[in-house]
Amino acid sequence: MASKKPFTKIQCSVCKKTNYFTKKSKANAEKKLELKKFCSTCKKHTLHKEGRK
Ligand SMILES: [Zn+2]
Repeated sequence: MASKKPFTKIQCSVCKKTNYFTKKSKANAEKKLELKKFCSTCKKHTLHKEGRK
């Protein structure tokens, strides 16, 4: 099988918009990502969480 690219969506926890994508590494694959990032919809820094499919 070809290796999958495990891209992960990073969603704003306020408006649920997907603002970022990240590639999961082995180091952080186990835990849920939570990042403070700028959301262009909320126009401020909000907590962003790993999205699910
Ligand atoms: Zn937002």
